Amino acid sequence: MIDFLVIGGGIAGISAGARVAPLGETIVLEAEAHLAYHASGRSAALFEETYGKPTTIALNRASKDHHFSAHGGVLSPRGLLLIGQPHETDAFDRDCQTMSLTRLTMADATTLLPILDTATVTMAAHHSDAWDIDTDKLIQDFARDIRTAGGTVATGQRVTSITRTTAGWDVKTPAATYQARTLINAAGSWADQIAMLAKITPLGLQPLKRSMARIAAPGGHDPKTWPMIFGPGETWYAKPDAGALLVSPADETPVDPHDAWADDLDLATGLAAYQDYVTEPVTKPISSWAGLRTFAPDRSLVLGRAADDPAFIWCAGQGGYGMQTSPAASQLIGDICAERTSLLDPKTVAALSPKRFQ
Ligand SMILES: Cc1cc2nc3c(=O)[nH]c(=O)nc-3n(C[C@H](O)[C@H](O)[C@H](O)COP(=O)(O)OP(=O)(O)OC[C@H]3O[C@@H](n4cnc5c(N)ncnc54)[C@H](O)[C@@H]3O)c2cc1C
Repeated sequence: MIDFLVIGGGIAGISAGARVAPLGETIVLEAEAHLAYHASGRSAALFEETYGKPTTIALNRASKDHHFSAHGGVLSPRGLLLIGQPHETDAFDRDCQTMSLTRLTMADATTLLPILDTATVTMAAHHSDAWDIDTDKLIQDFARDIRTAGGTVATGQRVTSITRTTAGWDVKTPAATYQARTLINAAGSWADQIAMLAKITPLGLQPLKRSMARIAAPGGHDPKTWPMIFGPGETWYAKPDAGALLVSPADETPVDPHDAWADDLDLATGLAAYQDYVTEPVTKPISSWAGLRTFAPDRSLVLGRAADDPAFIWCAGQGGYGMQTSPAASQLIGDICAERTSLLDPKTVAALSPKRFQ
């Protein structure tokens, strides 16, 4: 019998595994052939401290030091530029306030983004405190922490059955059966399905599809130093990516859990929105993808022991923040498993607990 069995080899499961592995024997099971195949391999990889609900912002803040310094750090400077047109004043003002952005003249904004169309864009604001996350390194660092502590990460292991026993759980994959005292559910979009396999009450997690087009650097520019660009109210966004530009319609289409792909119409919507703000014509995408951002009904993460069984721990509902919140979210899972007091404020811990849905 092992101590901790983690289901899910995305950022949630790998980071949680890294925190519990020093506490007892740990195995992380991932259904796919490699880690981070689903949402965790498809993100925009941004760290923006003010992004999300207050509980998420608390986790972002508590994660920042780890992102900067653990294993040499995973952040590099990006900055965030909000640009708006005359009809978007209300959303623009709201975003400026929420994200503590400094208003810029159009001349200054054009220095940051040379393709800015000053014929249509009349408002711009910026802050430099937004960062690119090296998500591959983040995941590999956590995976190494698991192995260093004596834990195991097993891919190609889809959990198909979960049975409660007096001592813990019997968990089956087509290849093996595992016995564990504590189960950590980090199955992303499938977390409610894992709960139902274990006869735990599901929480109503909803996967929302988000799409991304990758286009060549506009007009031959090198976008390496451009900031992340947002339309007011997160109506679209664009981000430099290894010499190209990612453009997303910031879509949120409710779907069942699946291996998501980008719909042409969604991509076209995003590219048309972006086109309205810039001078260079949109070119055919080099590639595209979609991923599922999975939210609890109140859009806060769900971190803690299930109300109906303390040996079942939720690590789910990461939504659009799973990368940036992972150090603090996983630390909370580790603290709960070690019965340690969290450094997060108790109100935040309660607002993240699955017991809030009781
Ligand atoms: C387009 C897009 C942009 C984003 N941008 C950002 C961003 O800029 N910053 C940020 O912080 N976040 C961002 N996110 C969100 C972030 O990617 C997610 O919150 C995070 O990846 C969720 O991680 P996860 O481990 O919960 O889910 P996943 O990565 O989906 O991992 C869950 C894993 O569980 C496995 N699994 C499911 N069922 C089973 C089973 N029965 N047995 C074994 N394994 C199973 C799955 O195969 C999967 O690999 C973005 C997401 C998308 C889609």
